[in-house]
Amino acid sequence: MTTLTDRLGILSNAPGSSGNESAVRRAIRPMIEQHVDAPHVDGVGNLIARKAGNGTSSLRVLITAHMDEVGLMVVGHTGDGDLRVGTVGSIAERLLPGLTVTVGEEAMPGVIGVQAIHRANKGSLDKAPGVDQLTVDIGASSKDEAKRLAPVGTPIVFSTQFEKMGNVCAGKAFDDRAGCTALVALLGGQPFPFEVTGAFTVQEEVGLRGARVAAYTVAPDIAIVLEGTLADDLPKEDSDVSSTTTLGSGPAITAMDRSYITPPWLLRHFIQVAEDEGIPYQIKQPGIGGTDAGSIHQTRAGVPTITVAVPCRYIHSPISLIRESDLAALVRLVDVAVRRITADGLPLQHT
Ligand SMILES: [Zn+2]
Repeated sequence: MTTLTDRLGILSNAPGSSGNESAVRRAIRPMIEQHVDAPHVDGVGNLIARKAGNGTSSLRVLITAHMDEVGLMVVGHTGDGDLRVGTVGSIAERLLPGLTVTVGEEAMPGVIGVQAIHRANKGSLDKAPGVDQLTVDIGASSKDEAKRLAPVGTPIVFSTQFEKMGNVCAGKAFDDRAGCTALVALLGGQPFPFEVTGAFTVQEEVGLRGARVAAYTVAPDIAIVLEGTLADDLPKEDSDVSSTTTLGSGPAITAMDRSYITPPWLLRHFIQVAEDEGIPYQIKQPGIGGTDAGSIHQTRAGVPTITVAVPCRYIHSPISLIRESDLAALVRLVDVAVRRITADGLPLQHT
């Protein structure tokens, strides 16, 4: 049987920086095909999959997870055959020097160049170089060869391979392949009392772009965004600062972030379901980050939207960590919460 972890590993390893999500789309398709009506890809690259309901309600529910990850893109070439790069999405730039990366559709290996410590002067060791000072070495011997192998526009992602590590899973892009994994699981479950559309969206990391299109197409009554969010549960300089989320404490429900505020009745519904079912959960520290909910809730006449996320340590870096128990609890929470939307008679609008 394919487990959540197996699927997470496959999706984590797939390269897919914003705007170049094909490999992720190709990996997801066979995972959902037998459970949904023919999935289709829209004009921006979202993978949209409708799961027929059992006919008791005409409600339309949209569940999304974004396929893209932060990465780099080739923006030029040096005289000796290295690649100049720019960032795609907000990436931890100070961590880049010395990393191995995967370049382009052909998955060419590359190394982010770093000045040998013997040659670095003292001042430069204290300061992390910006991305404009870094180059990617793909072993090309000339500018022409580098241009041919990796022309301007070629996407680059971290080369991190997924692995189990103690009680956690370690890998790249859990933001948001954890959400994609959860959405695959939800689409593979029993039919809901109404139609549920899963949208695997593009270009979240550069401005919540694909989700805007998906929400317009689906015109849902309610939307749920599945995410991987930051778990900064590490020792802090100021002990009064609380963590945004913590690993192992269950899925994190958003009350407010920088992109939207959850309708109170929808927030209460998810908390009530978690309490009733004994599912661990946490409320994400309000005011931090933004998700596809930011564009979905403003679509058409407005869509009540909530975000539920798997806590991830070291998000937007070459390697992040999650607990499978948090991912499994997220799937269960969302599954039950969606089933109970009609049973609990949610108002589905503001009073
Ligand atoms: Zn995300």
